[in-house]
Amino acid sequence: MEVGGVHRQVYSEIEIDRAEGTVIEALKARSQQPIADPDQWLDEELKKNVLLTSVDAVVNWARSNSLWPVVCFPACCAFEFIGAAASRFDISRFGMEIIRASPRQSDLMITAGTLTWKMAPNVRRIYDQMPEPKWVIAMGACAISGGIFASSEYAVVPGYNRIIPVDVYVPGCPPRPEALLYGIRMLQKKIAKASLKQRKE
Ligand code: SF4
Repeated sequence: MEVGGVHRQVYSEIEIDRAEGTVIEALKARSQQPIADPDQWLDEELKKNVLLTSVDAVVNWARSNSLWPVVCFPACCAFEFIGAAASRFDISRFGMEIIRASPRQSDLMITAGTLTWKMAPNVRRIYDQMPEPKWVIAMGACAISGGIFASSEYAVVPGYNRIIPVDVYVPGCPPRPEALLYGIRMLQKKIAKASLKQRKE
């Protein structure tokens, strides 16, 4: 049959049925046995998805990336901390966007400011109320050593480490937010080396 100048073969319905039957019969003949399960894909998926690690590594990873600082900012270094928490430096990148007003929900104290002996018992109480494990970053010269007040002012505590254990010291008067972020990274490295077998006294 000529269609648009091209010769086309025209099949009757019987011929079409017969051709279709031939294809089906051939497939039936090849399909008498079930195809074996491709087991190898299972091995392949396991290799891609199973991660072997230690409990210490997982716990430390979780702890170091979900530090919640307690509110304890007695003096001017606090403004650099606030700068670090705001959008430009953004400590929420470290899982720290929740700055807790309750020590019972915190595991990090960032001591941003001068501490007087009159205030010291309250800071110690806040620290005692934080659950274990907990960490302390001494932020600024006053937190490290009493700063510019240490030699002339009898009322200033010459370093928070007189009343609480300090894990990381961030120098400066005040330290810039970048320095605090560096201190936080140092603390994360310290936490990553901890073991559940150790207990902080
Ligand atoms: S280190 Fe400097 S900025 Fe920080 S609390 Fe002391 S005096 Fe203020």
